[in-house]
Amino acid sequence: MMGSFLERLRAGDILVADGATGTNYQKMGIEIGVPPEEWVFDQPENVLALHRAFVDAGADIILTCSFGGTRLRMRDSKYADRAPELNRRAAELARQAAATRAGVLVAGSMGPTGALMEPFGELTRADAVNAYAEQAAALAEGGVDLLLLETFFALDEAQAAIEGVKRACALPLVVSFSYDQGTRTMMGLRPSQVVEAIAPLGIATIGANCGKSLDAMEQIVAEMAAQKTGLPLWIKPNAGLPKGIPPAYDTTPAEMADYATRYVKAGARIVGGCCGSTPAHVAAIARAVHGRDNAA
Ligand SMILES: [Zn+2]
Repeated sequence: MMGSFLERLRAGDILVADGATGTNYQKMGIEIGVPPEEWVFDQPENVLALHRAFVDAGADIILTCSFGGTRLRMRDSKYADRAPELNRRAAELARQAAATRAGVLVAGSMGPTGALMEPFGELTRADAVNAYAEQAAALAEGGVDLLLLETFFALDEAQAAIEGVKRACALPLVVSFSYDQGTRTMMGLRPSQVVEAIAPLGIATIGANCGKSLDAMEQIVAEMAAQKTGLPLWIKPNAGLPKGIPPAYDTTPAEMADYATRYVKAGARIVGGCCGSTPAHVAAIARAVHGRDNAA
């Protein structure tokens, strides 16, 4: 079970990634409107506690609390002038939790900037590239094993982000889009179009996360696998769609685990959960795909 991310993929391992950050912080009392990243400075013991819960549940990969951590996305945060420090600290916290079980890997999470790129919006390509280079460098400095661009929906922003990451470091890179219209992204892209544009850019793994439903994700996995790029697939769906106020996710751990095994059969190599996924969901996924309670 030991080795780097790439070694373990080459060895044919199925790896379990962790579950949600934001929806679990809501259960832990984060106030509405507070960006989860602020807890890196304000509630580091809670950040550590959730990481440890996922490690205990059997996750092989945990994600840093830095999804909204580009300088651009943090523009309105009270920590707007401390973006690199926040990312480095997020990596250090995840690293600390990962050390509680041998072989657990840390992925540095990076999400969209929240701005549209020119000509549709104000964001220049150069500013986007610089923001991701800065975030990737800070996460690398904090000790992550791999980097993850997740919940992307537009090709231009993803391409700029990949360029930025590659300028900053040589860590393995996962690129994951969100198909929140079912089997298309917010910009109307199909999985095959994303794979065609992104897979040749020197990345380690391509994937899909968040999205609309577990069934739609099964179609996405099939469409991505049919592209036969040779890249391992990273699949991290929501635990269903939120219902009610406060939002509740009704997909059970057993259902999530059942779908995770289907994704693996269809070609996924890394499986976990996105919004609504708790440590109990991750534990069920780990049992289902590893056939044991955790990696011990
Ligand atoms: Zn999500």
